[in-house]
Amino acid sequence: MARYTKSTCKLCRREGIKLFLKGDKCYSDKCAMSRRAYAPGQHGQSRKKITNYGTQLREKQKLRRYYGVLERQFERYFEEAERMRGITGDNLLQLLERRLDNVVYRLSIAASRPQARQLVRHGHILVNGKKVDIPSFLVKVGDVITVKDESKSLEVIKNNIETSTNIPDWLDFNRDTIEGKILSLPAREHIDLPVEEHLIVELYSR
Ligand code: SF4
Repeated sequence: MARYTKSTCKLCRREGIKLFLKGDKCYSDKCAMSRRAYAPGQHGQSRKKITNYGTQLREKQKLRRYYGVLERQFERYFEEAERMRGITGDNLLQLLERRLDNVVYRLSIAASRPQARQLVRHGHILVNGKKVDIPSFLVKVGDVITVKDESKSLEVIKNNIETSTNIPDWLDFNRDTIEGKILSLPAREHIDLPVEEHLIVELYSR
């Protein structure tokens, strides 16, 4: 499957915000946003007037990059969000948040969403006792997320869990058994991303 393979830090610099794609490095002074908080490239530091369309586009790119979703896949999420009952922007965020790779990250089994995606792809993650190696798999209420027994001793997983902080309210996590449970579907207030999703809805309504 196609995937973004260039420098991930450039994505943060392009969006002018930390996207937290590199785990511990994002919290250190090695973070590129601490040293060069301007867009990459020759004209990165020049001030440009941004149009309405430009603002909406940047908001969409920011959200897409937070979750590491490609353009076409993001459009499909939007189409699905429109079909659902309720507010399209909230639905969109909920769908993205329900992705298995995001849940693995939120449970702090992984230090970043890209790392979570890799753990899922490599078959370390079980959903209701069965291996699921599809990062875009959507979890539902009651699902139990665990790590395969043979993978529980992996240094990277142990370190992540030891240093984990806040688990969102819609999830439950037992650090001893490395077992997470989906208590409810994520609502907008559970999703702590600085994104104005109404701008994305406006963009697709053009
Ligand atoms: Fe973004 Fe993390 Fe790179 Fe900083 S270290 S620029 S937050 S990916």
